[in-house]
Amino acid sequence: MTNPHLSTHLIHHPYAAPTEFSAPQQPVHKASTVFFPDVATMRSRRWLDKSGYTYGLHGTPTSFTLEERLCALEGGQQCLLVPSGLAAISTISLALLSQGDEVLIPDNAYGPNKDFAQHELARYGIRYAFFNPMDVEDLRSKLSPATKLVWLEAPGSVTMEFPNLLAQVQLVRQHGALSALDNTWGAGLAFLPFDLLRDGGSVQVDISAHALTKYPSGGGDVLMGSIITRDHAVHMRLKLAHMRLGLGVGMNDVELVLRSLPSTALRYHAQDKTARQLVAALQRQNAVKQLLHPAFASSPGHAHWQQLCATPENPAGAAAGIFSVVFDAPQSQVDDFCNRLQLFKLGYSWGGHISLVMPYALDEMRDLGRGAVLPGCLVRLCIGLEDAADLERDVAQAYGHAFGHAWRGQGVH
Ligand SMILES: *Cc1c(COP(=O)(O)O)cnc(C)c1O
Repeated sequence: MTNPHLSTHLIHHPYAAPTEFSAPQQPVHKASTVFFPDVATMRSRRWLDKSGYTYGLHGTPTSFTLEERLCALEGGQQCLLVPSGLAAISTISLALLSQGDEVLIPDNAYGPNKDFAQHELARYGIRYAFFNPMDVEDLRSKLSPATKLVWLEAPGSVTMEFPNLLAQVQLVRQHGALSALDNTWGAGLAFLPFDLLRDGGSVQVDISAHALTKYPSGGGDVLMGSIITRDHAVHMRLKLAHMRLGLGVGMNDVELVLRSLPSTALRYHAQDKTARQLVAALQRQNAVKQLLHPAFASSPGHAHWQQLCATPENPAGAAAGIFSVVFDAPQSQVDDFCNRLQLFKLGYSWGGHISLVMPYALDEMRDLGRGAVLPGCLVRLCIGLEDAADLERDVAQAYGHAFGHAWRGQGVH
């Protein structure tokens, strides 16, 4: 059209995407509407197989790129992005369970996963049971013909018990149910969810759910989740439910995750190192009763962690920078300890650049008891990217004030 009105010109400008522009970050492709060149193309495009773009909810080049990179990170074939880690969990359960089915969930799973089964799945006539993550026989005894999905988490949220994931996955597979792993802690870096024995995939989970909110985002400012599979049929069941539920993610958030992804491994291992230094320091203290970090022998399932996460190339093993402390002190003193920390902020989540602390009332969270976690008040510490000596100094000052014991340092005052 020649000489359109200014208002039309502002809309139909002669912009064409640059072809000779190459830079470290990809451009961000945002869309609800996607244009088709003609009706025949529109009719022939299929959103299901990602062979063409049809509508923003089904993805843009930006979200397709993140999906491919997450598949590479976790060793999967297909990936769905959802608005949060919890949405990954709820989508998987909703997509794969029907009335009369049963889902099994470890008692130490991420709390809202249990909550979703109790309050939402139950309304659809889907039954649930919690199992002891540290007793494979308990899981075996709870598998029934109705069991269609088994959730797994290694280690468990807050209490960090590391289960015999290999045995659990094999048992679920033998039973003919699907296994879904909440892989937020491992993040694709501590162990390989689709190749647990590192032999090319003889033992693998069916589905990996990941709260990208944590390590892949790394900034404490994005909520996102992913659902990764290797089996086309399982992926299709998830993908159709995902579409019908209308779940999409914003491309500005996808851009933030894409920007952080290249440093994920560096951050993961740096936070691991600092966390272990702090655990070692806390182990020397009088008011500390138990440290829950799977790389330490005091932590339930340490040997299972070692089997899965230590390799000949990395005998020290890999772990996320998060652990819990059971204090032998009254709740008021433990609360005071949390309040007195300065570098550690009081807040939920983890995997970001700022260290976080959170006290938990364990007895309200477990349906099958505390297991091997000793009695006492529990605090979870999530390690950020601060200097390790500064973090220890912060913990030492809060500890000294709150518990009235001198901090037993190793040259740190
Ligand atoms: C944070 C977290 C989730 C949920 O992620 P959101 O993005 O906060 O919804 C799920 N599982 C585990 C283990 C988590 O730590």
